[in-house]
Amino acid sequence: MNIQTPVAAGFRRAERLAAIGVSEILKITAEAAARRRAGHPVISLGTGEPDFDTPQHIKDAAVAAIHAGATKYTTLDGSSDLKEAIRGKFRRDNHLAFGLDEITCASGAKQIIYNALMATLDPGDQVIIPAPYWTSYVDIVTICGGQPVICSCSEANHFKLRPEDLARIVTPRARWLILNSPGNPSGGAYTESELRNLAGELGRHPRLWVLSDDIYEHIVYDDFAFTTLAEVAPQLGARLLTVNGVSKAYAMTGWRIGFAGGPRALIQAMAIVQSQSTSCPSSVSQAAAIAALTGPQDIVRERTQAFQRRRDLVIDGLSRIPGLSCRRPAGAFYIFAGYAGVLDRVTRQSEAVASDDAFCRYLLNHANVAVVPGSCFGASPYFRISYAASDDDLREACKRIGSAVAALN
Ligand code: PLP
Repeated sequence: MNIQTPVAAGFRRAERLAAIGVSEILKITAEAAARRRAGHPVISLGTGEPDFDTPQHIKDAAVAAIHAGATKYTTLDGSSDLKEAIRGKFRRDNHLAFGLDEITCASGAKQIIYNALMATLDPGDQVIIPAPYWTSYVDIVTICGGQPVICSCSEANHFKLRPEDLARIVTPRARWLILNSPGNPSGGAYTESELRNLAGELGRHPRLWVLSDDIYEHIVYDDFAFTTLAEVAPQLGARLLTVNGVSKAYAMTGWRIGFAGGPRALIQAMAIVQSQSTSCPSSVSQAAAIAALTGPQDIVRERTQAFQRRRDLVIDGLSRIPGLSCRRPAGAFYIFAGYAGVLDRVTRQSEAVASDDAFCRYLLNHANVAVVPGSCFGASPYFRISYAASDDDLREACKRIGSAVAALN
């Protein structure tokens, strides 16, 4: 079959995909891979996944599950053993008490978010997304027929939503607010008092539900005390979905297990969406997730220390480059760096650095460093560095970025 001729074959994309293009992250990652294949020493700081391996005891649990015959469909949105493990995790880490029927599990936090929005959005319903944001929020809302409402957040407040920002943007058509802490790409994390203040404003909008994406919960630095909105504001529990997963904390991105706790009616509606898409998450991955959530947790802390060292290394490297700026993230493994100081400059090759895409392509072509344009996350002029990479690569990348920026005229 010739996949070059979709029109001749009568192919037509659905209207709902009209506003959704191939992500710029994927494009730049593909370009970086092509450059590497062509022999260039590319350092890729684009992807959002830990470079560590999945811990051995988790892999062992998966192998044991295979040998024990746990290779069949499970209950729709997670086995009761996994739901028990998730219930224990919410109790241990977040002091939240969910019933088993208030817990759902899916093939990644991304599917959880998709299920929630697909189950609740009608055409034209708005979803408030603080920017900069994880790119998928906007696309998932759009696919589900909703209308993303982007709320730009001030860099001075580490890109976190303030009550006054919410008050300014909320309308009666807003169904959801998505909160992400620690945030991708900013690394900003909400303190307890910031969440309390937001909860005060949310109290004035009783029809607005909140999806709290806590996927980076365990990757926090400098003794930052992570807390989630449901813990700080139990009065919002009836309209709050707390989302999490094993991808980031346990280096399990490929296993595809995410989960959430929230009101029973929502959880049931999400299960209907899941029943007609993936039926259930992988049985083997569910066994692995139980081991991750109930097993030793020190490895998470050890790895977070490694991330903190790398964060400091990159902050130190970038802060020596005139024209670049960045804040010290409280969590996750990204630095959202500003390049306003070099925006107006032109390269020696007369290559205009007028957009985030162009700036990142310049870094790829002149420094062999792949980073992601800030515009992918709804904020310019910025670029995102993922520091889930080796110390040597990070040091070298900072050096190369420094030379490439200095070469701008
Ligand atoms: N939420 C945020 C903020 C993310 O950055 C990601 C992945 O990059 C996800 C959710 C998805 O996680 P999962 O691998 O569990 O689907």
